[in-house]
Amino acid sequence: MDGIDFLWLHATNQMADEMQLLDVNDSAEPVSCYCCGRPSGEWAVPLYQQRIDSFIKLEVPVCAPCNALFHGSYRYMGIEKGTLEKPTTAGKLGMLVGCGLIVAQTQKILLTNPGWDKRLRAATVPLFEMHQVSGKGALEFALNRIIALGPEEFPLLYIADIGRKKADLVANLKLTHSKAQIRVCSGESVFRINTDLLHAIRTMQQQDKSGWKKLEGFIFSSCHGRIAPNDEGLHGFLSASPEALAIARSLPADPHEKLQLLRVI
Ligand SMILES: [Zn+2]
Repeated sequence: MDGIDFLWLHATNQMADEMQLLDVNDSAEPVSCYCCGRPSGEWAVPLYQQRIDSFIKLEVPVCAPCNALFHGSYRYMGIEKGTLEKPTTAGKLGMLVGCGLIVAQTQKILLTNPGWDKRLRAATVPLFEMHQVSGKGALEFALNRIIALGPEEFPLLYIADIGRKKADLVANLKLTHSKAQIRVCSGESVFRINTDLLHAIRTMQQQDKSGWKKLEGFIFSSCHGRIAPNDEGLHGFLSASPEALAIARSLPADPHEKLQLLRVI
């Protein structure tokens, strides 16, 4: 299932009662979503809303699941602009820069930051349980939370930063099917975290700090093309450290994913 449909079916469809949704079956023309680009036959529900695109100033169809990112609602999403006493713009899920989201089968957690927390809590019917935890701590909180979940909570969707680039976010929404490999989605990228590998790295960080620093340096240099795979220093180091060798072997092949992983750790 597409991530944006999963989000709709598990959380955002509650907002349907405030949307001006149309049924594609009533349309004489084929309809494709302006945000996700999918033709209506691929949507989880045959519903869409006509929205004015702010750049081209024309009406465009947006499927109901994507529309939930654009929909402003004081009731469900609190306040985007203004104060608690004088709100001027309703909150929108697709504008929460710096906030994360975990939507599992029964748990729905919005990870807020100090800038958004109070405004989101103005919602009278919040869609999500809220935790104020941001920055690098938020990723660690989310990973620990996901790793602690039972198998019945999967598949789930984890967004590290909702951001405000809605179409980019939708394109990167990939479900996490088990805790063995967690997909970290955002408007910028989607990358995988192998939890066994994460555990092995954290163990090495604690037990052999200097060894880890050295391995980290090798990984970083190789990703930037500053070290050849046949580098003798690297080989000597790996053959002397079984822990480092095991970690090196289970690293993702893609340099971009390797660097993302280093950023997490
Ligand atoms: Zn869409």
